[in-house]
Amino acid sequence: MFENLTSRLQEIFRKLRGKGKLTEKDIEEALREVRQALLEADAHYKVVKELLNNVKTKALQEDVLKSVTPAEQIIRILYYELLNILGGEKVDLNLGDKKPGIILVVGLQGSGKTTTCAKLAYRLSQEQRRVLLVGADTFRPAAGKQLQILGEKIKVPVYIDGSNPFEIIDGALKVAREKFSDVMIVDTTGRLHIDEEMMNELSELNKRYHPSEILLVVDGMTGQDAVNIAEKFNEKLPLTGVILTKMDGDARGGAALSVKAITGKPIKFIGVGEKIEDLEYFYPDRLASRILGMGDLASLVEKIEKNIELEKMAKLEEKLKKSKFDLEDFYIQLKELKKVGTFEQILDMLPYVPKNKINVELSEKEIKKFLAIIESMTPEERRNPSIINGSRRQRIARGSGTSVQDVNRLLKQYFQTLELIKQINKGKKSMFPFFR
Ligand code: GDP
Repeated sequence: MFENLTSRLQEIFRKLRGKGKLTEKDIEEALREVRQALLEADAHYKVVKELLNNVKTKALQEDVLKSVTPAEQIIRILYYELLNILGGEKVDLNLGDKKPGIILVVGLQGSGKTTTCAKLAYRLSQEQRRVLLVGADTFRPAAGKQLQILGEKIKVPVYIDGSNPFEIIDGALKVAREKFSDVMIVDTTGRLHIDEEMMNELSELNKRYHPSEILLVVDGMTGQDAVNIAEKFNEKLPLTGVILTKMDGDARGGAALSVKAITGKPIKFIGVGEKIEDLEYFYPDRLASRILGMGDLASLVEKIEKNIELEKMAKLEEKLKKSKFDLEDFYIQLKELKKVGTFEQILDMLPYVPKNKINVELSEKEIKKFLAIIESMTPEERRNPSIINGSRRQRIARGSGTSVQDVNRLLKQYFQTLELIKQINKGKKSMFPFFR
């Protein structure tokens, strides 16, 4: 699944990386290719359109063009947008707060519904839940037998007695209570097409048994059809999630990309083979990384985010080199400090500043005070701190609710930093051993 999409995207990224700096046109062209690749993977056109609009807006907003790693920034944005349409966080099963919990499994014939019931039972029993499988698909007579065989294989009890779904489920509830089952997984009627009779029956089951989950099983290989089916079921039944089956074969994956965005219901599992253990929890983040062809994207994203910080630092470094470090810069640094930690940690990130020259420890309270003091200054004072005389200091202290001593301390701190910067600039070569 997704192999084609992934290799197409990799090719697009490779081209982007090769370009170094990007123009708006480069981005547009790349996104056009991404669009084509997504459509070929059978993702829903509405979903693709929205995704790309968002990526483009963000790419332009976030100044990707000026960044030193534009391709990486685009991939990062794409990653988050993909994650968003895939549903963000993994959504867990809700087994309800009454025992037994009831999971209704619904879907069309051939989608893999019965097999999936057994796979799910196996998984939950592996997680130490006591499960009862219930065969309530009286429309396809062989379904009950199939479930029994699967149940035997995985050593999960199966209940199929009764002539209609209500009778069967009522009977199963009794047995489940006797057995102290945690959850009943109910295989419901499956038809070849969505018809009123089936939907009415399912609605009745929902009204009578209040399941904690109504999971729709759809065949992932059918791509757009899977999404259309999900949309139709969702109109009639309060689905709580979707299970996409057959995601192992040559499924192009489009259904996985579109189901959540179109129906608003999360994908909870994907079927990835015919064997009983071939049912996986659906992790949007892992899939997004897989689609983008990145092993450990989480750490890559982290690295890129650090890069953004480093770019900010590079700008500051430029100013430092010119000894043009005024109180506005100091203010920005103090704000950064609140986020990052100690002043040392920030300066530590600059290859330019000798480590052993820094000895600044500010508490959060002090930082807050300093920020308030700078906020009470006029722009002129911030840009040219040497004009801040005694009466100005009094005014600033009053304005910021601090004392003249506080203002003095801030200014001392600032002038010391400035002095340090100047010294470094002057004796750069001779101080070389201290530089990293
Ligand atoms: P039902 O009519 O919806 O109950 O469908 P079944 O459970 O009988 O499954 C139909 C066919 O799909 C069977 O041959 C299953 O083995 C197969 N199947 C179900 N899930 C998967 C899956 O995730 N991958 C593959 N490759 N086959 C699957």
